[in-house]
Amino acid sequence: MSNLAEWYGIECRKCFRHIVLPHRNPLGKSRHPWYWPKDEMQAWFLHPDCGYLSAYWIPEVHLIILEPDQNPLLFPLWRVTIPCEHGNCGIQISVHTRSKSKGGAGASVVEAIHEGCPLNCSKGHVVPEPSRLSIDEVPEIDEN
Ligand SMILES: [Zn+2]
Ligand SMILES: [Zn+2]
Repeated sequence: MSNLAEWYGIECRKCFRHIVLPHRNPLGKSRHPWYWPKDEMQAWFLHPDCGYLSAYWIPEVHLIILEPDQNPLLFPLWRVTIPCEHGNCGIQISVHTRSKSKGGAGASVVEAIHEGCPLNCSKGHVVPEPSRLSIDEVPEIDEN
């Protein structure tokens, strides 16, 4: 039995550490064995350790082997949904981060944008001041 744990995740563009994605059932409805927002090729992730917010693409997801004492699931993954308020665009932008609390997840996304990480919708509209955030926890395991 292996004492290494296999996860899927992305590598932070700023500090090159990982953001681990929740597992998904590869034989179920999900197309990948990892979580990715539905119907999106590009997804936003905020790295909780360095606070850097950036967009990532599905091909950037890779297998991560962790030592048994490294627990990547210390904090839950949150999906922070922000509506694009440019004109009547209305596109919902999802930003993901791991945080101790729901409120902490929302606050760190707002802070990253204030500190200069650009966030835009899929039509390219920049979101200068995120508001009307809705925040949901993403389950670590979803067999459905
Ligand atoms: Zn980072
Ligand atoms: Zn937009």
